[in-house]
Amino acid sequence: MSPAFDGVCFDFGDTLFYSPDGAAVLVEAGVAPAAARELWDRIWRESKTPEALAVKRDLSPLAHRSGWLGLFAQADVYRPGLSTLLYERVMDHTKWIPFPDTEAVLRELDRRQVKVGVVSNVAEDLRPVFAKHGWADLVDGFAHSYEHGVEKPDVRLFLAACASIGTAPSRTLVVGDHPVDGGAVMAGCAVLLLPHTEPGEPHGLARVLDLIG
Ligand SMILES: [Mg+2]
Repeated sequence: MSPAFDGVCFDFGDTLFYSPDGAAVLVEAGVAPAAARELWDRIWRESKTPEALAVKRDLSPLAHRSGWLGLFAQADVYRPGLSTLLYERVMDHTKWIPFPDTEAVLRELDRRQVKVGVVSNVAEDLRPVFAKHGWADLVDGFAHSYEHGVEKPDVRLFLAACASIGTAPSRTLVVGDHPVDGGAVMAGCAVLLLPHTEPGEPHGLARVLDLIG
């Protein structure tokens, strides 16, 4: 059976990798555990709302910093400066953690000679993140929002992602965790959206292999 797709373009955040736990950073800084958990989970939820996304924080490093510090400012009522601490500890993508099924799926796609891309709303180059894990060779192309001046769900970022791996959109599967990733259908791609899983739990990425065939 020939594969259904020539390429897969993955979202980065909460699809292949998840962030360090901001609640742990807050507890370390002296915030009570229950309050830290409640605050951090609220900040993370709010960061994905249409209102927060409208800030377009992933078009430049400056916009990223001000957009996130605006969200993190809620922590400063516990101790001034916590917003900056959170930004430094949580927003350094080299400190993000891959889901336990990420590596196996990337390696299997490589083995099957399926092209792999990363399509991300992000304000910095993600190549060093993959290189840090020894996966530089497992990703064929990147489409970063800050480099293209557009964010998902803008169709142009998905088209750029397909171009970066040399696949036709109709032969490309886009995998994400958020409705903005669904914008890829307007580029002509099929889309798989994976629901939230707890940190440290497999993220259901093996479903990609089932779809590839
Ligand atoms: Mg995401």
